[in-house]
Amino acid sequence: MPKRRKTRCGFLVVISGPSGVGKSTVVRRLLEVFPELKMSISATTRPPRPMEKNKLDYHFLTEKDFFEQVKNNSFLEWAQVHKYYYGTPIKYIEEEIEKNNIVVVEVDVQGASKIKEKININQLKCSAVFIFLIPPSVDILAFRLKRRKTEKVEAVNYRLRAAIAELQVMEKYDYIVVNDKVDSAAQKIRAIINVEKEKALLN
Ligand code: ADP
Ligand code: 5GP
Repeated sequence: MPKRRKTRCGFLVVISGPSGVGKSTVVRRLLEVFPELKMSISATTRPPRPMEKNKLDYHFLTEKDFFEQVKNNSFLEWAQVHKYYYGTPIKYIEEEIEKNNIVVVEVDVQGASKIKEKININQLKCSAVFIFLIPPSVDILAFRLKRRKTEKVEAVNYRLRAAIAELQVMEKYDYIVVNDKVDSAAQKIRAIINVEKEKALLN
């Protein structure tokens, strides 16, 4: 017998996968087709790319400011990814979950595993669904990383080697989504979130 239905319940949608697989592109499309989702904006010490805007794409911080925030426990998780530091601000997530909203977090595989640990030990009072985005093939991943032209050749090769290692952890995730076409990947994630929304109402 299902328990009494709540009207809403907030949770996290953690989207991870190798660099260049298309996480940012797919998440951008997901927010267009599912506008009520809330997006967590990470902090990073990486310099902004030409089209990126502070506070919209990332909170771009100096290393000194980043570690000040680490010291103040401002991050749900933080990690070094490809020579720079990245962190997920906790305040925004707590505020949105409190309002029963669904918050999307895009992190590397280390970040996803740290978030899972915090949820398991009840340090974050909400549930989360973990989605791993994979490329249709490693060749296509290499092509996308090179075509993005945001890194030098050595950095592309470094990210590609890391990606192959990162693909090994995919079975730890709740769902695996192939990013073949941006639209269909975003729609698959939308369907997953709708299923999880129903499940959250029954818990
Ligand atoms: P990530 O955030 O995972 O590092 P990006 O979103 O920056 O990856 O995508 C890497 C590159 O691949 C970008 O140039 C993007 O336009 C392209 N891309 C993403 N998804 C697709 C797709 N489904 N088909 C073709 N190109 C894609
Ligand atoms: P990029 O520099 O290409 O924007 O991101 C590099 C990697 O860092 C990507 O895999 C991205 O998902 C990851 N990343 C972005 N924000 C965070 C974060 O807050 N925490 C962690 N652990 N990884 C992040």
